[in-house]
Amino acid sequence: MTRIVCIGECMVEMAPLAERGTYRMGFAGDTLNTAWYLARLLCDRAQVSYFTAIGTDGISDQMLTFLEDENIGTRTIQRRTDRTLGLYMIQLQDGERSFSYWRGQSAARTLAQSRPDLDAALQDADIAYFSGITLAILSDWDRETLMRALDRFSAAGGEIVFDPNLRPKLWPNANGMVNAIMQAAKLSDIVLPSFDDEATWFGDQTPLATAERYASHGACTVVVKNGPGEIVLLNDWEISRFTPTPMDDVVDTTAAGDSFNAGFLAGRIVGQSLEKAVATAAALAARVVSHRGALVADAVTCTDLSG
Ligand code: ADP
Repeated sequence: MTRIVCIGECMVEMAPLAERGTYRMGFAGDTLNTAWYLARLLCDRAQVSYFTAIGTDGISDQMLTFLEDENIGTRTIQRRTDRTLGLYMIQLQDGERSFSYWRGQSAARTLAQSRPDLDAALQDADIAYFSGITLAILSDWDRETLMRALDRFSAAGGEIVFDPNLRPKLWPNANGMVNAIMQAAKLSDIVLPSFDDEATWFGDQTPLATAERYASHGACTVVVKNGPGEIVLLNDWEISRFTPTPMDDVVDTTAAGDSFNAGFLAGRIVGQSLEKAVATAAALAARVVSHRGALVADAVTCTDLSG
């Protein structure tokens, strides 16, 4: 059975309810969202686990319980006595959502402090999934420790999947961001970027240019997402294109890319062709954007995957 470990930060999410001043608490974060959709899609066809660092307090315990209830493995998660989870709050103003973050001192920022802990987490896996946000929250030193661990994992036959998820606000400067992203991409077998971010920070003129840039740095498979626009798949330098069915009722694009990544990987894991896996991914992401919130239970079941 395929074993996937997703590496990154899971935060507490406070989402506003209709009544002013009332919020619903949940858990979310880019790599966690992908893990959640993977577990929901694959059910007993794969083992999905999460690697991060959390506190030893009540809310950290609640997050562990949440992951375990979702069938996401937590065995290698690190506990820190002096830190806790990061938090974000969603504000709704005139129908627009904005986000405020409290994550500067989160436990997850220490997830790559120990080489043996990283090796232990990766030892159990066939596929490692991480993102540009995973890299952004780490110190330079810890980022290097993570990259080296992934390099060893790759040398031992592990497959690496990376979503660049460019978030300049999380980096001291844009140069540091683009260098770290390309360093990570070089280690990766599969890269799953989103075109608008890539065009802004790398100057790519087309989604194909984004795909070619990552392929020329070593990725075997690149899938470039582009909102409702055409998706480009470049596999061993062979190009395919896929137009998602446009959704008229888009209510919230949170986790569109994260769910897309899960759909693509899950399709691939159950043996779908890469083109079919892109279709699976786009169908899932289309359902996710037509619901509010990052984790949309109604958008996904284990029966969504056929060969
Ligand atoms: P990200 O969330 O990483 O910015 P995108 O916005 O590119 O990612 O969206 C990821 C995927 O979600 C797209 O490739 C597409 O399949 C799907 N998607 C996003 N917006 C729409 C839309 N308006 N209609 C249909 N599908 C969409």
